[in-house]
Amino acid sequence: MQNITIIGAGLSGPVMASYLSNLGFEIDLFESRQDMRVIPQSAGRSINLALSARGINALENIGVFEKIKPILLPMEGRMIHDKEGNKSLQTYGQAKHEVIYSVSRSKLNMILMDHSENTGNVKIHFNHAVQELDLEERKISFKEKKISFGRLLGADGASSMVRKAINRKDPINFIKKKLDHGYKELTIPASSNEEFMMEQNALHIWPRGQFMLIALPNMDKSFTCTLFLPMVGNFSFESIKTKNQVLEFFEEYFPDTIDLIPFLCEEYENNPTGKLATVYCDRWHYSDIASIFGDAAHAIVPFFGQGMNASFQDCTFMNSLLERYKDNWGKVFSEYSRLQAPNGHAIANMALENYIEMRDSVNDPKYRKRRELELSLEHKFWDRFVPRYSMVSFHQLPYSEVYRRGKIQLDLMDSFIKGNMTKNQLHNEIKQQLTPIR
Ligand code: FAD
Repeated sequence: MQNITIIGAGLSGPVMASYLSNLGFEIDLFESRQDMRVIPQSAGRSINLALSARGINALENIGVFEKIKPILLPMEGRMIHDKEGNKSLQTYGQAKHEVIYSVSRSKLNMILMDHSENTGNVKIHFNHAVQELDLEERKISFKEKKISFGRLLGADGASSMVRKAINRKDPINFIKKKLDHGYKELTIPASSNEEFMMEQNALHIWPRGQFMLIALPNMDKSFTCTLFLPMVGNFSFESIKTKNQVLEFFEEYFPDTIDLIPFLCEEYENNPTGKLATVYCDRWHYSDIASIFGDAAHAIVPFFGQGMNASFQDCTFMNSLLERYKDNWGKVFSEYSRLQAPNGHAIANMALENYIEMRDSVNDPKYRKRRELELSLEHKFWDRFVPRYSMVSFHQLPYSEVYRRGKIQLDLMDSFIKGNMTKNQLHNEIKQQLTPIR
Protein backbone atom coordinates (compact mmCIF):
# COMPACT_ATOMS: atom_id res chain seq x y z
CA MET A 1 0.00 0.00 0.00
CA GLN A 2 1.41 3.46 -0.94
CA ASN A 3 1.92 5.92 1.89
CA ILE A 4 0.90 9.59 1.65
CA THR A 5 1.79 12.31 4.12
CA ILE A 6 -0.65 15.16 4.75
CA ILE A 7 0.19 18.23 6.83
CA GLY A 8 -2.79 19.80 8.65
CA ALA A 9 -5.82 18.13 10.26
CA GLY A 10 -7.99 21.25 10.07
CA LEU A 11 -11.11 21.04 7.92
CA SER A 12 -9.76 19.81 4.61
CA GLY A 13 -6.89 17.51 5.71
CA PRO A 14 -9.21 14.78 7.08
CA VAL A 15 -11.50 15.06 4.02
CA MET A 16 -8.58 14.47 1.65
CA ALA A 17 -7.33 11.67 3.93
CA SER A 18 -10.73 9.95 3.74
CA TYR A 19 -10.83 10.19 -0.05
CA LEU A 20 -7.30 8.77 -0.29
CA SER A 21 -8.04 6.04 2.21
CA ASN A 22 -11.04 4.96 0.13
CA LEU A 23 -8.70 4.72 -2.87
CA GLY A 24 -6.52 2.31 -0.88
CA PHE A 25 -3.69 4.59 0.30
CA GLU A 26 -2.25 4.71 3.80
CA ILE A 27 -2.12 8.22 5.22
CA ASP A 28 -0.08 9.86 7.96
CA LEU A 29 -1.66 13.16 8.93
CA PHE A 30 0.51 15.56 10.97
CA GLU A 31 -1.16 18.35 12.96
CA SER A 32 0.50 21.01 15.11
CA ARG A 33 -2.44 21.38 17.55
CA GLN A 34 -3.53 19.07 20.34
CA ASP A 35 -6.39 16.64 19.72
CA MET A 36 -9.53 18.74 20.43
CA ARG A 37 -11.52 15.54 20.94
CA VAL A 38 -9.36 14.72 23.98
CA ILE A 39 -8.69 18.29 25.16
CA PRO A 40 -11.97 20.13 24.40
CA GLN A 41 -10.59 23.52 25.56
CA SER A 42 -8.23 23.42 22.60
CA ALA A 43 -11.24 23.66 20.23
CA GLY A 44 -11.48 27.38 21.08
CA ARG A 45 -14.55 29.63 21.02
CA SER A 46 -17.80 28.57 19.37
CA ILE A 47 -17.34 29.55 15.75
CA ASN A 48 -19.61 28.52 12.90
CA LEU A 49 -19.34 28.34 9.15
CA ALA A 50 -21.75 28.25 6.22
CA LEU A 51 -21.73 24.88 4.46
CA SER A 52 -23.18 24.64 0.95
CA ALA A 53 -23.42 22.32 -2.07
CA ARG A 54 -19.73 21.94 -2.95
CA GLY A 55 -18.82 21.05 0.62
CA ILE A 56 -21.83 18.75 1.02
CA ASN A 57 -20.93 16.91 -2.19
CA ALA A 58 -17.48 16.04 -0.82
CA LEU A 59 -18.94 14.98 2.54
CA GLU A 60 -21.43 12.72 0.76
CA ASN A 61 -18.69 11.22 -1.42
CA ILE A 62 -16.55 10.21 1.56
CA GLY A 63 -19.63 8.85 3.34
CA VAL A 64 -19.74 11.19 6.35
CA PHE A 65 -22.64 13.49 5.52
CA GLU A 66 -25.25 11.46 7.47
CA LYS A 67 -23.15 11.99 10.63
CA ILE A 68 -22.97 15.73 9.99
CA LYS A 69 -26.65 16.30 9.19
CA PRO A 70 -27.73 16.37 12.87
CA ILE A 71 -25.45 19.37 13.56
CA LEU A 72 -26.64 21.49 10.60
CA LEU A 73 -28.94 24.49 10.88
CA PRO A 74 -30.52 25.57 7.58
CA MET A 75 -30.36 29.26 6.64
CA GLU A 76 -32.91 30.19 3.97
CA GLY A 77 -31.65 33.68 3.27
CA ARG A 78 -30.18 36.91 4.53
CA MET A 79 -32.16 38.67 7.23
CA ILE A 80 -31.28 42.32 6.67
CA HIS A 81 -31.48 44.59 9.73
CA ASP A 82 -31.63 48.29 8.92
CA LYS A 83 -30.61 51.10 11.27
CA GLU A 84 -34.22 51.72 12.29
CA GLY A 85 -34.56 48.14 13.50
CA ASN A 86 -36.65 46.92 10.52
CA LYS A 87 -35.96 43.42 9.21
CA SER A 88 -36.45 41.87 5.78
CA LEU A 89 -35.57 38.42 4.50
CA GLN A 90 -33.84 38.06 1.12
CA THR A 91 -34.00 34.35 0.28
CA TYR A 92 -30.88 32.77 -1.19
CA GLY A 93 -32.61 30.62 -3.76
CA GLN A 94 -35.98 29.88 -5.29
CA ALA A 95 -36.25 26.13 -4.80
CA LYS A 96 -36.98 24.74 -1.35
CA HIS A 97 -33.68 22.86 -1.15
CA GLU A 98 -31.66 26.00 -1.98
CA VAL A 99 -30.50 26.79 1.53
CA ILE A 100 -27.07 26.96 3.13
CA TYR A 101 -26.25 25.48 6.54
CA SER A 102 -24.64 26.86 9.67
CA VAL A 103 -22.27 24.33 11.24
CA SER A 104 -19.91 24.46 14.21
CA ARG A 105 -16.29 24.46 13.02
CA SER A 106 -15.00 22.39 15.93
CA LYS A 107 -17.83 19.81 15.86
CA LEU A 108 -17.39 19.39 12.11
CA ASN A 109 -13.61 19.08 12.50
CA MET A 110 -14.01 16.40 15.18
CA ILE A 111 -16.45 14.33 13.09
CA LEU A 112 -14.14 14.58 10.07
CA MET A 113 -11.12 13.42 12.10
CA ASP A 114 -13.11 10.50 13.58
CA HIS A 115 -14.36 9.55 10.15
CA SER A 116 -10.93 9.57 8.53
CA GLU A 117 -9.46 7.44 11.32
CA ASN A 118 -12.38 5.01 11.13
CA THR A 119 -11.55 4.24 7.50
CA GLY A 120 -8.67 2.24 9.00
CA ASN A 121 -5.90 3.69 6.82
CA VAL A 122 -5.41 7.10 8.47
CA LYS A 123 -3.19 7.86 11.45
CA ILE A 124 -3.33 11.41 12.89
CA HIS A 125 -0.22 12.59 14.75
CA PHE A 126 -1.09 15.58 16.97
CA ASN A 127 1.41 18.03 18.50
CA HIS A 128 3.50 17.72 15.34
CA ALA A 129 4.30 21.17 13.97
CA VAL A 130 6.36 21.05 10.79
CA GLN A 131 9.50 23.09 11.26
CA GLU A 132 11.42 22.40 8.09
CA LEU A 133 10.76 20.72 4.77
CA ASP A 134 13.17 19.43 2.18
CA LEU A 135 11.23 18.52 -0.95
CA GLU A 136 14.21 17.11 -2.86
CA GLU A 137 15.38 14.88 0.00
CA ARG A 138 11.73 14.20 0.90
CA LYS A 139 12.35 14.92 4.58
CA ILE A 140 10.19 16.72 7.18
CA SER A 141 11.59 18.01 10.47
CA PHE A 142 9.42 18.32 13.55
CA LYS A 143 10.69 19.51 16.93
CA GLU A 144 11.71 16.09 18.11
CA LYS A 145 12.10 14.00 14.99
CA LYS A 146 12.75 13.91 11.29
CA ILE A 147 10.76 11.70 8.93
CA SER A 148 10.87 10.75 5.26
CA PHE A 149 7.86 10.95 3.00
CA GLY A 150 6.87 9.53 -0.36
CA ARG A 151 4.21 11.98 -1.48
CA LEU A 152 3.32 15.16 0.41
CA LEU A 153 0.01 17.06 0.52
CA GLY A 154 -0.22 20.42 2.31
CA ALA A 155 -3.50 21.25 4.07
CA ASP A 156 -1.68 23.50 6.52
CA GLY A 157 -3.78 26.62 6.05
CA ALA A 158 -3.16 30.21 5.03
CA SER A 159 0.46 30.35 6.27
CA SER A 160 1.33 26.97 4.75
CA MET A 161 4.88 25.64 5.21
CA VAL A 162 4.34 23.27 2.29
CA ARG A 163 3.48 26.21 0.02
CA LYS A 164 6.61 28.04 1.17
CA ALA A 165 8.74 24.98 0.42
CA ILE A 166 7.23 24.63 -3.08
CA ASN A 167 7.72 28.35 -3.71
CA ARG A 168 11.36 28.10 -2.64
CA LYS A 169 12.07 25.23 -5.04
CA ASP A 170 10.23 26.65 -8.03
CA PRO A 171 8.47 30.04 -7.62
CA ILE A 172 4.68 29.86 -7.95
CA ASN A 173 3.91 33.58 -8.30
CA PHE A 174 2.70 33.71 -4.72
CA ILE A 175 0.84 36.86 -3.68
CA LYS A 176 -0.76 37.59 -0.31
CA LYS A 177 -3.12 40.59 -0.42
CA LYS A 178 -4.10 41.83 3.00
CA LEU A 179 -7.62 43.21 3.42
CA ASP A 180 -7.71 46.51 5.27
CA HIS A 181 -10.70 45.22 7.26
CA GLY A 182 -10.52 42.78 10.18
CA TYR A 183 -13.08 40.93 12.28
CA LYS A 184 -14.11 40.20 15.84
CA GLU A 185 -16.47 37.52 17.14
CA LEU A 186 -19.24 38.35 19.62
CA THR A 187 -22.05 36.23 21.10
CA ILE A 188 -25.84 36.44 21.26
CA PRO A 189 -26.68 33.73 23.81
CA ALA A 190 -29.92 31.74 23.97
CA SER A 191 -32.78 33.44 25.85
CA SER A 192 -33.48 32.61 29.50
CA ASN A 193 -36.06 30.05 28.34
CA GLU A 194 -33.47 28.46 26.05
CA GLU A 195 -34.81 29.82 22.77
CA PHE A 196 -33.21 31.64 19.86
CA MET A 197 -33.34 35.42 20.35
CA MET A 198 -33.80 36.01 16.59
CA GLU A 199 -35.14 34.15 13.55
CA GLN A 200 -33.12 30.92 13.57
CA ASN A 201 -33.23 29.96 9.87
CA ALA A 202 -31.38 32.97 8.53
CA LEU A 203 -27.96 34.52 8.24
CA HIS A 204 -28.46 37.91 9.89
CA ILE A 205 -26.73 40.98 8.44
CA TRP A 206 -26.55 44.55 9.67
CA PRO A 207 -25.07 46.23 6.54
CA ARG A 208 -23.68 49.70 7.27
CA GLY A 209 -21.65 50.70 4.21
CA GLN A 210 -18.02 50.60 5.30
CA PHE A 211 -18.62 47.91 7.91
CA MET A 212 -21.14 45.26 8.94
CA LEU A 213 -22.19 42.82 11.60
CA ILE A 214 -23.38 39.30 10.77
CA ALA A 215 -24.78 36.47 12.91
CA LEU A 216 -25.12 32.73 12.28
CA PRO A 217 -27.21 30.39 14.47
CA ASN A 218 -25.70 27.64 16.66
CA MET A 219 -27.21 24.34 17.83
CA ASP A 220 -27.33 25.60 21.45
CA LYS A 221 -29.68 28.39 20.26
CA SER A 222 -27.04 31.07 20.53
CA PHE A 223 -25.71 33.09 17.58
CA THR A 224 -22.08 33.74 16.79
CA CYS A 225 -21.81 37.31 15.51
CA THR A 226 -18.89 38.65 13.51
CA LEU A 227 -18.17 42.35 13.32
CA PHE A 228 -16.24 43.30 10.16
CA LEU A 229 -14.61 46.70 10.48
CA PRO A 230 -11.68 48.61 8.92
CA MET A 231 -8.41 48.12 10.82
CA VAL A 232 -7.64 51.87 10.81
CA GLY A 233 -9.58 55.09 10.21
CA ASN A 234 -12.61 56.87 11.66
CA PHE A 235 -14.66 53.79 12.41
CA SER A 236 -12.08 51.07 12.95
CA PHE A 237 -10.58 48.62 15.39
CA GLU A 238 -7.85 51.19 15.94
CA SER A 239 -10.22 54.05 16.81
CA ILE A 240 -12.93 52.10 18.71
CA LYS A 241 -11.21 50.83 21.81
CA THR A 242 -12.71 51.91 25.13
CA LYS A 243 -15.95 50.63 26.64
CA ASN A 244 -17.60 53.99 25.95
CA GLN A 245 -16.47 54.04 22.34
CA VAL A 246 -17.80 50.51 21.78
CA LEU A 247 -21.17 51.37 23.33
CA GLU A 248 -21.44 54.64 21.44
CA PHE A 249 -20.63 52.89 18.17
CA PHE A 250 -23.16 50.11 18.73
CA GLU A 251 -25.84 52.58 19.93
CA GLU A 252 -25.41 54.54 16.72
CA TYR A 253 -25.10 51.71 14.18
CA PHE A 254 -26.42 48.49 15.74
CA PRO A 255 -28.87 49.69 18.42
CA ASP A 256 -31.10 46.62 18.21
CA THR A 257 -28.18 44.32 19.13
CA ILE A 258 -27.16 45.96 22.40
CA ASP A 259 -29.68 44.04 24.48
CA LEU A 260 -28.90 40.85 22.60
CA ILE A 261 -25.12 40.81 23.23
CA PRO A 262 -24.85 40.88 27.04
CA PHE A 263 -21.04 40.81 27.16
CA LEU A 264 -20.49 43.19 24.26
CA CYS A 265 -17.74 45.31 25.83
CA GLU A 266 -15.98 42.38 27.49
CA GLU A 267 -15.98 40.31 24.30
CA TYR A 268 -14.92 43.29 22.21
CA GLU A 269 -11.99 43.85 24.53
CA ASN A 270 -10.95 40.23 25.08
CA ASN A 271 -11.64 38.44 21.80
CA PRO A 272 -8.83 38.73 19.28
CA THR A 273 -9.15 40.92 16.20
CA GLY A 274 -8.79 38.59 13.22
CA LYS A 275 -6.94 39.66 10.11
CA LEU A 276 -8.07 38.76 6.61
CA ALA A 277 -6.10 38.21 3.41
CA THR A 278 -6.32 36.58 0.02
CA VAL A 279 -3.65 34.14 -1.11
CA TYR A 280 -3.08 33.70 -4.82
CA CYS A 281 -0.58 31.36 -6.42
CA ASP A 282 -0.48 30.09 -9.96
CA ARG A 283 0.81 26.59 -9.32
CA TRP A 284 -0.29 24.30 -6.55
CA HIS A 285 2.32 21.55 -6.85
CA TYR A 286 6.00 20.71 -7.18
CA SER A 287 6.90 17.97 -9.63
CA ASP A 288 5.29 14.63 -8.64
CA ILE A 289 6.39 15.22 -5.06
CA ALA A 290 4.08 17.70 -3.34
CA SER A 291 0.91 19.71 -3.72
CA ILE A 292 -1.24 22.05 -1.65
CA PHE A 293 -4.98 22.41 -1.23
CA GLY A 294 -7.51 24.36 0.85
CA ASP A 295 -6.41 27.66 2.38
CA ALA A 296 -2.78 26.71 1.74
CA ALA A 297 -3.50 27.12 -1.99
CA HIS A 298 -6.21 29.78 -1.92
CA ALA A 299 -6.99 31.48 1.39
CA ILE A 300 -9.89 33.82 0.61
CA VAL A 301 -11.88 36.42 2.51
CA PRO A 302 -14.99 34.90 4.14
CA PHE A 303 -17.72 36.94 2.43
CA PHE A 304 -19.04 34.25 0.12
CA GLY A 305 -18.92 31.57 2.81
CA GLN A 306 -16.85 29.44 0.43
CA GLY A 307 -13.33 28.94 1.87
CA MET A 308 -14.14 25.55 3.38
CA ASN A 309 -16.49 24.60 0.54
CA ALA A 310 -13.80 25.39 -2.03
CA SER A 311 -11.26 23.43 0.03
CA PHE A 312 -13.52 20.37 0.08
CA GLN A 313 -14.04 20.73 -3.67
CA ASP A 314 -10.23 20.62 -4.12
CA CYS A 315 -10.31 17.21 -2.42
CA THR A 316 -13.12 16.00 -4.70
CA PHE A 317 -11.19 17.19 -7.73
CA MET A 318 -7.92 15.56 -6.64
CA ASN A 319 -9.84 12.33 -6.03
CA SER A 320 -11.31 12.39 -9.55
CA LEU A 321 -7.80 12.89 -11.03
CA LEU A 322 -6.43 9.99 -9.02
CA GLU A 323 -9.26 7.79 -10.23
CA ARG A 324 -8.43 8.81 -13.78
CA TYR A 325 -4.62 8.83 -13.81
CA LYS A 326 -4.03 6.24 -11.05
CA ASP A 327 -0.38 6.25 -9.92
CA ASN A 328 0.78 8.85 -12.42
CA TRP A 329 1.32 11.49 -9.73
CA GLY A 330 3.13 13.88 -12.06
CA LYS A 331 0.03 14.01 -14.25
CA VAL A 332 -2.38 14.15 -11.28
CA PHE A 333 -0.55 17.11 -9.71
CA SER A 334 0.02 19.05 -12.92
CA GLU A 335 -3.60 18.65 -14.04
CA TYR A 336 -4.77 19.61 -10.56
CA SER A 337 -2.77 22.86 -10.71
CA ARG A 338 -3.68 23.63 -14.30
CA LEU A 339 -7.40 23.15 -13.88
CA GLN A 340 -8.07 24.05 -10.26
CA ALA A 341 -5.84 27.12 -9.69
CA PRO A 342 -7.98 29.34 -11.98
CA ASN A 343 -10.99 28.31 -9.89
CA GLY A 344 -9.17 29.37 -6.75
CA HIS A 345 -8.51 32.78 -8.27
CA ALA A 346 -12.15 33.12 -9.38
CA ILE A 347 -13.66 32.39 -5.95
CA ALA A 348 -11.06 34.65 -4.32
CA ASN A 349 -12.22 37.53 -6.50
CA MET A 350 -15.92 36.76 -6.06
CA ALA A 351 -15.46 36.67 -2.27
CA LEU A 352 -13.92 40.15 -2.35
CA GLU A 353 -16.78 41.44 -4.53
CA ASN A 354 -19.34 39.91 -2.20
CA TYR A 355 -18.05 41.99 0.71
CA ILE A 356 -19.26 45.13 -1.02
CA GLU A 357 -22.59 43.44 -1.76
CA MET A 358 -23.10 42.29 1.83
CA ARG A 359 -22.06 45.43 3.65
CA ASP A 360 -23.52 47.92 1.20
CA SER A 361 -25.45 46.93 -1.94
CA VAL A 362 -28.10 44.77 -0.22
CA ASN A 363 -29.59 48.04 1.06
CA ASP A 364 -29.53 49.74 -2.32
CA PRO A 365 -32.87 49.96 -4.24
CA LYS A 366 -30.95 49.42 -7.53
CA TYR A 367 -29.53 46.18 -6.16
CA ARG A 368 -32.99 45.05 -5.07
CA LYS A 369 -34.42 45.84 -8.51
CA ARG A 370 -31.69 43.83 -10.20
CA ARG A 371 -32.22 40.98 -7.76
CA GLU A 372 -35.94 40.92 -8.66
CA LEU A 373 -35.09 40.82 -12.36
CA GLU A 374 -32.51 38.11 -11.74
CA LEU A 375 -35.05 35.91 -9.96
CA SER A 376 -37.68 36.41 -12.66
CA LEU A 377 -35.13 35.50 -15.35
CA GLU A 378 -34.16 32.40 -13.42
CA HIS A 379 -37.85 31.50 -13.23
CA LYS A 380 -38.24 31.81 -17.00
CA PHE A 381 -34.84 30.36 -18.06
CA TRP A 382 -34.38 28.00 -15.12
CA ASP A 383 -31.73 25.85 -16.87
CA ARG A 384 -29.66 28.72 -18.32
CA PHE A 385 -29.95 31.83 -16.20
CA VAL A 386 -28.89 30.98 -12.65
CA PRO A 387 -28.02 33.86 -10.27
CA ARG A 388 -24.31 33.96 -9.42
CA TYR A 389 -24.96 33.38 -5.71
CA SER A 390 -26.91 30.22 -6.62
CA MET A 391 -24.25 28.98 -9.05
CA VAL A 392 -21.67 29.32 -6.28
CA SER A 393 -23.74 27.93 -3.44
CA PHE A 394 -26.04 25.33 -4.98
CA HIS A 395 -24.08 24.00 -7.98
CA GLN A 396 -20.78 22.21 -8.64
CA LEU A 397 -19.88 24.29 -11.73
CA PRO A 398 -16.18 25.35 -11.65
CA TYR A 399 -15.86 28.78 -10.05
CA SER A 400 -14.12 30.20 -13.13
CA GLU A 401 -17.16 29.24 -15.22
CA VAL A 402 -19.46 30.77 -12.59
CA TYR A 403 -17.42 33.95 -12.82
CA ARG A 404 -17.65 34.03 -16.62
CA ARG A 405 -21.40 33.38 -16.72
CA GLY A 406 -22.04 35.79 -13.85
CA LYS A 407 -20.36 38.59 -15.79
CA ILE A 408 -22.47 37.91 -18.91
CA GLN A 409 -25.65 37.90 -16.81
CA LEU A 410 -24.73 41.12 -15.03
CA ASP A 411 -23.94 42.92 -18.28
CA LEU A 412 -27.22 41.77 -19.85
CA MET A 413 -29.28 42.84 -16.84
CA ASP A 414 -27.57 46.23 -16.66
CA SER A 415 -28.19 46.84 -20.39
CA PHE A 416 -31.85 46.00 -19.94
CA ILE A 417 -32.28 48.12 -16.80
CA LYS A 418 -30.60 51.10 -18.49
CA GLY A 419 -33.05 50.73 -21.40
CA ASN A 420 -30.38 49.72 -23.94
CA MET A 421 -32.16 46.48 -24.67
CA THR A 422 -35.79 45.35 -25.02
CA LYS A 423 -37.21 42.39 -23.14
CA ASN A 424 -37.20 40.30 -26.31
CA GLN A 425 -33.58 41.18 -27.01
CA LEU A 426 -32.65 40.28 -23.45
CA HIS A 427 -34.36 36.91 -23.77
CA ASN A 428 -32.68 36.20 -27.12
CA GLU A 429 -29.25 37.10 -25.74
CA ILE A 430 -29.78 34.76 -22.80
CA LYS A 431 -30.62 31.90 -25.18
CA GLN A 432 -27.58 32.66 -27.33
CA GLN A 433 -24.96 33.39 -24.72
CA LEU A 434 -25.85 31.02 -21.88
CA THR A 435 -25.81 27.24 -22.43
CA PRO A 436 -28.01 25.10 -20.14
CA ILE A 437 -26.32 24.08 -16.87
CA ARG A 438 -29.06 21.98 -15.26
P1 FAD B 1 -7.50 25.11 8.26
O1 FAD B 1 -8.89 24.72 8.62
O2 FAD B 1 -6.98 26.42 8.69
O3 FAD B 1 -6.52 23.97 8.77
C1 FAD B 1 -5.12 24.06 8.70
C2 FAD B 1 -4.55 23.10 9.74
O4 FAD B 1 -3.15 23.01 9.57
C3 FAD B 1 -4.78 23.60 11.18
O5 FAD B 1 -5.37 22.59 11.93
C4 FAD B 1 -3.40 23.98 11.66
O6 FAD B 1 -3.24 23.79 13.04
C5 FAD B 1 -2.53 23.04 10.84
N1 FAD B 1 -1.16 23.55 10.64
C6 FAD B 1 -0.78 24.80 10.25
N2 FAD B 1 0.56 24.89 10.17
C7 FAD B 1 1.05 23.67 10.52
C8 FAD B 1 2.37 23.14 10.64
N3 FAD B 1 3.45 23.88 10.39
N4 FAD B 1 2.50 21.84 11.01
C9 FAD B 1 1.42 21.07 11.25
N5 FAD B 1 0.14 21.53 11.17
C10 FAD B 1 -0.04 22.80 10.80
N6 FAD B 1 -15.54 28.96 4.82
C11 FAD B 1 -16.77 28.53 4.41
O7 FAD B 1 -16.85 27.65 3.54
N7 FAD B 1 -17.90 29.04 4.96
C12 FAD B 1 -17.88 30.03 5.90
O8 FAD B 1 -18.93 30.49 6.35
C13 FAD B 1 -16.61 30.52 6.32
N8 FAD B 1 -16.54 31.49 7.26
C14 FAD B 1 -15.32 31.95 7.66
C15 FAD B 1 -15.26 32.98 8.60
C16 FAD B 1 -14.04 33.50 9.00
C17 FAD B 1 -14.01 34.64 9.98
C18 FAD B 1 -12.85 32.94 8.47
C19 FAD B 1 -11.51 33.48 8.89
C20 FAD B 1 -12.89 31.89 7.56
C21 FAD B 1 -14.13 31.39 7.13
N9 FAD B 1 -14.22 30.35 6.20
C22 FAD B 1 -15.44 29.92 5.76
C23 FAD B 1 -13.00 29.77 5.61
C24 FAD B 1 -12.59 28.43 6.26
O9 FAD B 1 -12.40 28.61 7.63
C25 FAD B 1 -11.31 27.93 5.61
O10 FAD B 1 -11.38 28.05 4.22
C26 FAD B 1 -11.04 26.46 6.00
O11 FAD B 1 -10.81 26.36 7.37
C27 FAD B 1 -9.85 25.93 5.20
O12 FAD B 1 -9.54 24.64 5.63
P2 FAD B 1 -8.03 24.16 5.60
O13 FAD B 1 -8.07 22.75 6.04
O14 FAD B 1 -7.42 24.48 4.30
O15 FAD B 1 -7.29 25.06 6.66
